[in-house]
Amino acid sequence: MTLAAGIEKFNNECFPSMEGKFKELEKGQSPETLFITCSDSRIDPSLVTQTQPGELFVIRNAGNIVPKPGTGELSVEATILYAVDVLKVKRIVVCGHSHCGAVTGLMNLESLNELPEIKAWVAKSSEVLDRLDSADATLNQGISENVKLQLEHLLDYPSVASAVSENKLELEGWVYHFESGRVEFLD
Ligand SMILES: [Zn+2]
Repeated sequence: MTLAAGIEKFNNECFPSMEGKFKELEKGQSPETLFITCSDSRIDPSLVTQTQPGELFVIRNAGNIVPKPGTGELSVEATILYAVDVLKVKRIVVCGHSHCGAVTGLMNLESLNELPEIKAWVAKSSEVLDRLDSADATLNQGISENVKLQLEHLLDYPSVASAVSENKLELEGWVYHFESGRVEFLD
């Protein structure tokens, strides 16, 4: 379906039943979850969580990476701070996924030599490589370790750390296996 045809179908078949919801949302948003996931087209946060508009505040980038604060990645940093300090979300989910191309690249950085911007971006998670047994590490291990690293980086944000310590905010790490529909909850 073309995007234009999709919009027409949305306006004709979907929006009428949701109009009340959107009218309500005109007053403002109060999502309880900041959902950080990969840009991968196979991931649909609202589909897998069965959430409605207004429920998820979302950050997406290649590899669901959360750079440490103060590293100049203002897009991610400002969005996290808005979610935590202004919207006062109750949880942050970092959701990695099976067959992630960004983590594949991270685990084989030399393959990205011709793509320096992408290499520099995924290398923000290079600590993952130190935690894997490089000879035998599987992609799924890399994907899980990458999620855990981002949770650690989140705790480097003072706003996140203080909200967590006051039990106002929970951090969760997930891996979504889109080919089976299974969501794996990491410790
Ligand atoms: Zn991915």
